[in-house]
Amino acid sequence: MKTLAPTFSDREARIESSKTSGARIKADKLRSRGVDVINFASGELDYMPPSSLLSSVERINYRDSHRYVDTAGLQELRSFVSANIASFDEITYSAEEVIITTGAKHGLFLSVMTLINDGDEVLLPQPSWGTFKAQIMLAGGKPMVVESEGERFNPTAVEFEKCIGQNTKLIVLNSPCNPTGEIYSEHQLRDIAKLAKERGLWILFDESYRNLIRPGCAFIHPAAAFPGIRDQVVTVGSFSKSLAITGWRVGYAYGGQEVIRRLKKLQSHTASNANSLAQYAISDITQNEVVRFNTKVNAELDERCHKIQNSLKGQDLISYSEPCGAFYFFLDFRKIVGKRMYGIEVDSTDRLAEILIEHAHVALTPGSAFGKEGFMRLSYAIDRESIQIGMTNLVEALNHVE
Ligand code: PLP
Repeated sequence: MKTLAPTFSDREARIESSKTSGARIKADKLRSRGVDVINFASGELDYMPPSSLLSSVERINYRDSHRYVDTAGLQELRSFVSANIASFDEITYSAEEVIITTGAKHGLFLSVMTLINDGDEVLLPQPSWGTFKAQIMLAGGKPMVVESEGERFNPTAVEFEKCIGQNTKLIVLNSPCNPTGEIYSEHQLRDIAKLAKERGLWILFDESYRNLIRPGCAFIHPAAAFPGIRDQVVTVGSFSKSLAITGWRVGYAYGGQEVIRRLKKLQSHTASNANSLAQYAISDITQNEVVRFNTKVNAELDERCHKIQNSLKGQDLISYSEPCGAFYFFLDFRKIVGKRMYGIEVDSTDRLAEILIEHAHVALTPGSAFGKEGFMRLSYAIDRESIQIGMTNLVEALNHVE
């Protein structure tokens, strides 16, 4: 009998698997063979969540919290997000303009699906987290790469403007940025927001790392920099990174009422609601407890940053600009690409990542995962001792470049 094979969707075929997970998986494999690989590829804090959050889990009344909840999320949690915005950004989005999502990732997906049509162009800074590109393509959009001439990667309004075409619909901004740790300044955001307003463009603003800021750096929201953009910016954020609860899958989005109503409609058909237990637990903690936890984490992250900078002193093959937030350095390896290391030709940072895992036992994420060859992301969401060992190995490996 002749049979026909069913085919898969073109939509899925448009996208590539996540490369940020790739480095992690390779390191885990080597580790399972007994090799101690230092994982500089981690995308999550190495902390336990705040103890008040863990106690609030113990207090959950399972009798009441195992059912579907409001698609938009628990009223208490939406009010918590709304209050945070008011106190930290001095801008106002009511609880009705907030939706709780299954991590920032699903919030971003709902946003992209709501904001763009097939063929719409989306201005996407490069380097950027690979999920943005994948989601834009899944939604039928065309990611248009915007690169900055400056050393610090964030494109300016002028650089965005040059890339605007007939079909441009949306600008994606991520601050602090994965993979660079860069923050958009007030004047950069004001100019970009003005441009978006003039040209009738949406801004999708990912603030997932907003609570992880280094001393001397300041986070600012686009609507605080330019209030006129308030209803044209859809903000997506997360509890994953700031509370060390990546697995709980709770994030949020906020924006004008109309856009949030549409996100809610989409969420009702794709997730119903974000994890109810986690929502109850997070609703139970106070803003002060979150601030206390983040203050402690940020002080430690800053120490780690200094440790990495000290390790890189005195060598001239790797350069970098100092990050302002998140927990990433985006290191420039362009002086090594094209050379040989341990006798192996380094033709790309993908290859370099493999060489470093195998010979120096350190896992970094290659720049190609973020659309930027020649660079690698180093995450310092690991303890100081591991950083010390890993940086010693990495710097020692530089002696094998010829
Ligand atoms: N946004 C950025 C820029 C990220 O780097 C990540 C995770 O690495 C996320 C969103 C995903 O966050 P969540 O765990 O809340 O889905």
